[in-house]
Amino acid sequence: MRFETLAVHAGHGVDPSTGAVVDPINLSTTFERDPDGSYPHGYLYSRNHNPNRNGLEAALSALEGGAGAAAFGSGLASVTAIFQGLQPGDHVLAPADIYHGTANVLKHLFAKWQVSASFVDMTRLDTVRAAMQPNTRIVWIETPSNPLMQCVDIAAVVEIAHAGGARAIADNTFASPVLQRPLDLGCDMVMHATTKYLGGRSDVLGGAVITRQDDAHFAALRTAQLFGGAVPSPFDCWLVMRSLPTLPYRMQAHCANADKVARFLNEHPQVSAVHYPGLEGNAFHTIAKKQMSGFGGMLSFEVKGGKDAAMALAAHVEIFTRATSLGGVESLIEHRASIEGPESKTPQGLLRVSVGLEHADDLIDDLAQALERASS
Ligand SMILES: *Cc1c(COP(=O)(O)O)cnc(C)c1O
Repeated sequence: MRFETLAVHAGHGVDPSTGAVVDPINLSTTFERDPDGSYPHGYLYSRNHNPNRNGLEAALSALEGGAGAAAFGSGLASVTAIFQGLQPGDHVLAPADIYHGTANVLKHLFAKWQVSASFVDMTRLDTVRAAMQPNTRIVWIETPSNPLMQCVDIAAVVEIAHAGGARAIADNTFASPVLQRPLDLGCDMVMHATTKYLGGRSDVLGGAVITRQDDAHFAALRTAQLFGGAVPSPFDCWLVMRSLPTLPYRMQAHCANADKVARFLNEHPQVSAVHYPGLEGNAFHTIAKKQMSGFGGMLSFEVKGGKDAAMALAAHVEIFTRATSLGGVESLIEHRASIEGPESKTPQGLLRVSVGLEHADDLIDDLAQALERASS
């Protein structure tokens, strides 16, 4: 089946007990045993399994082309569960412009358990090769990156990781499985913040990991899910499931709108840089074109005049909302350095935009008037 069909049907099904076409929400935390002590429906306790989570995991696995998936209560809970499979003494190689929350997990939660991490420019393959250590177990890929939209050559980094005996795991949140399929490019696992495009409505937190093989590493992840307990609620799973059928159509519209907004900004005299891989002049255009079927709905740009100019622009938008996060129907704009905190290396004049599903011309008009008012 093709992607659109899987998005509608995978993990969904008519409820056999009622004939309901839409999945019910199974809030029960516990399930009845038969007189002989067995569990006739396979469900025992909701942290272990529940119908809504099973459906979501089946759907996400199908959409990424995996052998299985594990869902979590947030994107970072899924990141944490992945690193819980490591041993003291293991090393993680990660991109320098990794999502700041993932960097926090490595630096502030796992470093004290003797899991080390180094952060390198992963767009340079010789740098990646040189940074591999004998104890490197995971090479973390995030592409396009946040907030500079740098693109990493997934297949090439996978090759380096595997040659060094490490697994390659990709955070595919920005691209979504519609635009990029890391498992097809050789990655061992894919991680998502379902909070973003998969949830698609800015109303549910969630995370998931999809595996290429049902192997010992995936078993370790299941153990982290079961014993660690950072699972999503049935309602959270149901909300993400509700959004998946529209994912391919939403992504097409996000891409088309972002392309128009990026081209407008690129011509604007007050804008000094636009970071969007869809622009032909972008340093990552070729690699993005090779491994993505669209360039996504995220972009960032730098305004002349640094932090003050960026804050003034954000202060004057009327359709965009000043907020963090991404992937919802509404367009968001944010001054990224201030949310990332003191360790941030993001340029002070940079604004990150999640381009939503409004009409592109309204978004462009809004940015035009805000740029004008910010400069006067
Ligand atoms: C939001 C995000 C995460 C973390 O997800 P949460 O649900 O906020 O924990 C991880 N990676 C990327 C790229 C993200 O955008």
